[in-house]
Amino acid sequence: MRGVPDHVRVEKRIKELYEKNPDARIVVDKIKEYSSRISRPSIIKIMNFCGTHEWTITYYGIRSLMPSNVELIAGPGCPVCITPGYYVDLLIDLSVEGYTVLSYGDSYRLPGTRATGIRSLFDARIRGGDTRVVYSFLDAVKIARENPGRKHVFFAVGFETTMPSTAYPLSSGIVPDNLLILPAYRLTPPIMRYLLEEKPEAELHGVIAPGHVSTVIGAYSWIFLPKIYGIPTVVAGFEPVDVLLAILHILKMLYEGRPSLVNEYKRVARMCGNLEAKRTMWKVYRVVDAYWRGIGMVPRSGAVHTKDYSRYDFFDQIGVKDRPLEDKLPGCKCSEVTLGLAKPTECPLFMKRCTPSNPYGPCMVSVEGTCKIWAENLPVKL
Ligand code: SF4
Repeated sequence: MRGVPDHVRVEKRIKELYEKNPDARIVVDKIKEYSSRISRPSIIKIMNFCGTHEWTITYYGIRSLMPSNVELIAGPGCPVCITPGYYVDLLIDLSVEGYTVLSYGDSYRLPGTRATGIRSLFDARIRGGDTRVVYSFLDAVKIARENPGRKHVFFAVGFETTMPSTAYPLSSGIVPDNLLILPAYRLTPPIMRYLLEEKPEAELHGVIAPGHVSTVIGAYSWIFLPKIYGIPTVVAGFEPVDVLLAILHILKMLYEGRPSLVNEYKRVARMCGNLEAKRTMWKVYRVVDAYWRGIGMVPRSGAVHTKDYSRYDFFDQIGVKDRPLEDKLPGCKCSEVTLGLAKPTECPLFMKRCTPSNPYGPCMVSVEGTCKIWAENLPVKL
């Protein structure tokens, strides 16, 4: 694709979008129709919470299909981007002190708080630390079982979607005692509440709520957005047409002056979510206030092990405190990007010091990170 002008590349993807989804054109026309009927606000800001929605929007050039008064803003839906850098520092140190550190691939290159030197678990491995990528928590269980004389730590990064993957094995008693879990889990509705309460400058008029998370916690978890904040909200799937339909629903609700909650992802997400998964999660974990990287403490937005499972808890067993620590890297605007207050292209390091092959900040690491998505998909209409 090198040498192909960006606008041509995106046009190709839009063509692909229309070829695969003939109805998309009709939805785009309807979006234009409704947006033209809305005079206030002059710019309608719609936040897509989820990194996967951001990928769909960016890859298919959906921003370039929007009318001039509709702005699509990427939100905080990248768990790797908001995982405290302090956790990475701790794990790097442990990896040279007799522990095997096991991590998902996405978190493996996540930088800690250090701007230079050994910054990630990947760097630690190169310099002799014992860090490894696993594809699932069950892989971590297998590795720990096969090496009973060695201590292991699993870096549990994720939103509510991934919590059951550790909760089920823990509750079924198959996790060996030589495997600890660092619970970096963060909960999604609290960060939206935080954003609306603490960052009113974001000025959101609509929210596309995460589909995957809602399959676990339930679409109804987002009812507070229209009920308390008057923001039209749509739980959406990840196909381009899902996203376009979500935008249309939001515009319709704005036009009619009736903000509510729509579940566009009914084929997968129920209003009540997955009751069995929730039961197991909240047997193993309990909710606590938690630190979000570069952002600060967010009330009731994290999870630690309950008393019955504290023998697996990294912080309890290692004897270190889970404490907030300044972890904004010099020059990196990732926390602003995460909260929808800046675009990746407004960061002076974007595609200079910070690239997908050599990420400097956390939003350039994961496939759900806005900076990485923009860097790899070169949107034309920013
Ligand atoms: S481009 Fe890199 S340094 Fe800039 S905000 Fe994004 S992740 Fe941070």
